[in-house]
Amino acid sequence: MKISVVGTGYVGLVTGVSLSEIGHTVTCIDIDQAKIETLKKGISPIYEPGLEKMMLDNMDENRLFFTTDFLKGFKNPDVIYIAVGTPENEDGSANLAFVEQVALDIAHYVNKDTIVVTKSTVPVGTNHKIKQIIDFHLKMDVKIEVVSNPEFLKEGSAIRDSFQGDRIVIGADSDEASTIIEEINKPFGVPVYKTDIRSAEMIKYASNAFLATKISFINEISNICERVGANVEEVATGMGLDKRIGNQFLNAGIGYGGSCFPKDTKALIQIAGNVHYDFELLKGVVEVNKKQQRLILDKLHDLFMSIHGKKVAVLGLAFKPDTDDMREAASIVVTEYLVENGAEVVAWDPVAAHNAKHILREEIKYVDAIEEALGGSDVVLILTEWNQVKNLDPKVFLLMNDPIVIDGRNCFKLGEIQKYNVEYHSVGRPSVL
Ligand code: NAD
Repeated sequence: MKISVVGTGYVGLVTGVSLSEIGHTVTCIDIDQAKIETLKKGISPIYEPGLEKMMLDNMDENRLFFTTDFLKGFKNPDVIYIAVGTPENEDGSANLAFVEQVALDIAHYVNKDTIVVTKSTVPVGTNHKIKQIIDFHLKMDVKIEVVSNPEFLKEGSAIRDSFQGDRIVIGADSDEASTIIEEINKPFGVPVYKTDIRSAEMIKYASNAFLATKISFINEISNICERVGANVEEVATGMGLDKRIGNQFLNAGIGYGGSCFPKDTKALIQIAGNVHYDFELLKGVVEVNKKQQRLILDKLHDLFMSIHGKKVAVLGLAFKPDTDDMREAASIVVTEYLVENGAEVVAWDPVAAHNAKHILREEIKYVDAIEEALGGSDVVLILTEWNQVKNLDPKVFLLMNDPIVIDGRNCFKLGEIQKYNVEYHSVGRPSVL
């Protein structure tokens, strides 16, 4: 199949590269000239394990192309994927300006019957709106079908998720269109669930809202555990043995971040509000997460009267490991507070430091080695559970002045840390003093 993918962010690039890997000829289009120039050189602008190599292989095989030119990019594709951003508006609703612009571009350039597949996360009803926009502005007498195919990849394992995902959801009005999209995806070998367009759109939001709920739930349990002397890790393990609950997504910590859960939960609250439904449970989930991101600061407060002039090491800046994505990362709230209150902040992150420099306060010093961050510091805050942190020999904390570790991601076993002369505070577990 000849496929065009509009938007070369985390979703568009992974989609384009994966579709080319299974044999389709793919042209990826973006309005960001610099990004496309980087991609043409075979360099991935995002960090995603396995992505760059697969991209290079398929460029070499002449199956993967990049352009900013819509005329070129929309030259006779059978299918066009929309994978542009749908960021948050001020009121929490999804901003559809980029998606609507792509719909106009499709109407302008498309010259044959085409299936338009929406990968972007869009509110219920948006795919029908996309079809209306395209049909209204079409320049040629061609037939356009719109299919909802929400994306479930997880940053950090996006390539693996394309080939080993749990499901591919295809929402369509016509059997013909949904069968074509099913055929395109067949080589991935991932189970397909076919449904109507509105349900497909809702599946995406409901899934993310449910996962966010699971996180906020276990975080609330962890806060109670701290007060009653229970250990949330033990509690989560015991809960997870019940198959109805499952053992995944029950890790207590300093809350969720990233480009999806924060915006998609708020968007679903808006979607419900638009039809006069008050999604109280999800509002609670969002509030709990806000509170949880500041938990590490509350713990810091309990330990230090003032952090002015203290050297604070921060390990991990990305919103989760194996990604350079800084969107809605806890590190934004935490480092802002530290700098604002006069702390000397030394930060380490193996891949997100480059992005962080554009987002976080300029007073922050970045180092390449964890040891360098720890040396002479008064306290260390662990914000991302990178393997490099989880695999640390706790002895390394002895490089600090008077070792105090506040671990927002429960990276260390209490039994292990107890062997060292380190004061250790984590989430929902007893402190080691
Ligand atoms: P992103 O911000 O990383 O990338 C979006 C890209 O679209 C950018 O490169 C931008 O330049 C480009 N773009 C914007 N307007 C354009 C236009 N008119 N024409 C061509 N290109 C244009 O976004 P992302 O993280 O890849 O997310 C894309 C969508 O997928 C969002 O709706 C998001 O909610 C959803 N999603 C994201 C993830 C994730 O983990 N990132 C997972 C599942 C779903």
